Amino acid sequence: VPLARALRLRTRASAAAPPETSRRALLGLTEPELRQLAVDLGQQSYRGKQLHDLVYKNRAKQVEEFAYVPKVFREALVGAGWNVGRSPVHHAVTATDGTTKILLKLEDNRLVETVGIPVDDRGTPRLTACVSSQVGCPLRCSFCATGKGGFARNLKGHEIVEQVLAIEESFKHRVTNVVFMGMGEPMLNLKAVLEAHQCLNKELKIGQRMMTISTVGVPNTISKLASHKLQSTLAVSLHAPNQRLRETIVPSAKAYPLEALMDDCKNYFLETGRRVSFEYTLLGWD
Ligand code: SF4
Repeated sequence: VPLARALRLRTRASAAAPPETSRRALLGLTEPELRQLAVDLGQQSYRGKQLHDLVYKNRAKQVEEFAYVPKVFREALVGAGWNVGRSPVHHAVTATDGTTKILLKLEDNRLVETVGIPVDDRGTPRLTACVSSQVGCPLRCSFCATGKGGFARNLKGHEIVEQVLAIEESFKHRVTNVVFMGMGEPMLNLKAVLEAHQCLNKELKIGQRMMTISTVGVPNTISKLASHKLQSTLAVSLHAPNQRLRETIVPSAKAYPLEALMDDCKNYFLETGRRVSFEYTLLGWD
């Protein structure tokens, strides 16, 4: 598959990638934060509302495209190191069922995958975005191509949000559901995942109940997530019915016995009132 090959090559090439720049992204900021930024750069507060519209409604990809913002403000933004925080599409492939995989080329030339899954839900069209939270993954589950490729870095919050925007633009349709289930383990990058979750909910108006956070289980993180009391489903990738088999499929499970994982799942339900779902990958042996 060209997409998978490109991902593998990119992960291998990551050592040669240029260092991250210190540029800051407008994407991910709230309207009050953008208003404050405008004021800090010598503009009136309403200019911040214009930035908000440009980033989230008009979907401008570069500060230079901010048509109705004064040139002096655009220059001040760029001069202070701000960019929109959008990455170009490097490659996209669509399967016969309409599922589309998109590779975004990040600022440091690394590639990240996001998947759009269109579904007709009894006459109502739905579009699910399966977003990545890391470039690569350090957990090395036995069946997973991402894990085999190694870990490059955590994504920033806006780099998760922009995956949803890329899918909306590809499908020309609003994303109705988001699953944090792409490349990487979301619980190993919880801060950015929570930032993205908040931005998707507040700025892009995707309901918390329409979002699912998936994990293979990382000790001490489910309780942390539960404390935020999100109205989102927790999906636990179990992959095996007992600890012995699970450890062979998910090596990181050695540090997180099933009993402890199940206790944390129960507590997640008790604290949030949201259901926990369990997922298996069906594996066959020759
Ligand atoms: S946690 Fe997810 S992305 Fe990471 S190796 Fe396991 S299945 Fe792959």
